[in-house]
Amino acid sequence: MTAQIIDGKAFAEGLRGRVGTLAASFAAAAGRKAGLAVVLVGEDPASQVYVRNKGKQTLACGMESFEHRLSAETSEADLLALVDTLNADPAVDGILVQLPLPAHMDEQKVIAAIDPDKDVDGFHVINAGRLAVGLPGFVPCTPLGCVMLLKDRLGSLAGLDAVVIGRSNIVGKPMAQLLIQESCTVTVAHSRTKDLPEVVRRADIVVAAVGRPEMVKGEWIKPGATVIDVGINRVPAAEDGKTRLVGDVDFASASAVAGAITPVPGGVGPMTIAVLLRNTLVAAHRNAGIDLPQDAL
Ligand code: NDP
Repeated sequence: MTAQIIDGKAFAEGLRGRVGTLAASFAAAAGRKAGLAVVLVGEDPASQVYVRNKGKQTLACGMESFEHRLSAETSEADLLALVDTLNADPAVDGILVQLPLPAHMDEQKVIAAIDPDKDVDGFHVINAGRLAVGLPGFVPCTPLGCVMLLKDRLGSLAGLDAVVIGRSNIVGKPMAQLLIQESCTVTVAHSRTKDLPEVVRRADIVVAAVGRPEMVKGEWIKPGATVIDVGINRVPAAEDGKTRLVGDVDFASASAVAGAITPVPGGVGPMTIAVLLRNTLVAAHRNAGIDLPQDAL
C-alpha cells in the first residue's frame, strides 16, 4: 500500500483564506481589525523566523499585527508589565508570548499572566481546564490543526483507536483530550511505555509528537492507519554541512503501510500558524460581542 499524502500546506492555505474572508466581515462589523500581539524575548533564530512568519500571515489575513521584540536581558517584571498592557488594550484580541523564554524567566508565570480570553495559544491553565471538561476555550494550535486534518480526511473519528506518542502540555495532552472529544479510544504513550511498537500497531490513528527523528517505523503501523507526524527535527543532510527536516515517523517505511500520512515538511507544520489566526479571529468576535457562525472555520 502507498499512503495518501495529507497536504497540510494546502489545507492551511484554505483555512487562512476562510479566516481572511471572515476577518474582512469582522472589520466591517466592528469598525476595527482583529489584532494579534506577538512578544519575542531574545534572539533565538528559530523563534525569530516563527515570529516573522506569524506577523506576515496575520497581515495577509487582513488582521492587525503588533510585534514586541524585547532583549534577552529584559526582566521578568518588565515582560509581565507588557503582558498587562496588552491584556488591557482593546485593539489586541490575541496575545502570544513566543517560547522558549530566556532561562531567568518562569514560563508558567508569564503564561498565567495572559488574560485567558486572549490566550490564543491555549496554554493558560484555565484553557487547559476548559478543554479537559469540554467547555469552550482556546485549544493549542498544533493539536487542533492535527484534528482538523484528521476530520478532513476521515470524517467522523468516533470509535477509532488512536495512539498519541508524547504527553507534553502543548501537543500530546491536548491532542489526547481532543481525540477523546471526538469519541476515539485514546492511548497516550511516552518514554516509559512498554512495547511501544505493539501499542502503535493497534491504532487506526497514530499521532507522533516525540521530538526523535524517524523513530516510528513502518513495521509498527497497522495497514491502512492514518499517521499524523508532528515532529520537526533537523538532521544532517547527505551533502556536507547541510541539514534537512524530518519528522518523528520514518516516512519511507510508514508511507508504504499507512492509509494516509502527513509529510514533514508540509504536513502539520503549516497548520499551526493558520490555527493561531483562526483562534485570534474567534477571540476578536468574542471580545467585540459579534457572532461567528458555528463551523465557519
Ligand atoms: P516534548 O519534548 O515536550 O515532549 C516529547 C514527548 O515525547 C514526551 O512526552 C516524552 O515522554 C515522549 N518521548 C520521548 N522519547 C520517547 C520515546 N523514546 N518513546 C516514547 N515517547 C518518548 O516535545 P513537544 O511535545 O513539544 O514536541 C514534540 C515534537 O513536535 C518535536 O519534534 C517538536 O519540534 C514538534 N512540534 C511541532 C510543532 C509544529 O508542527 N508546529 C509544534 C510543537 C512541537 P516523557 O513525558 O516520558 O518524557
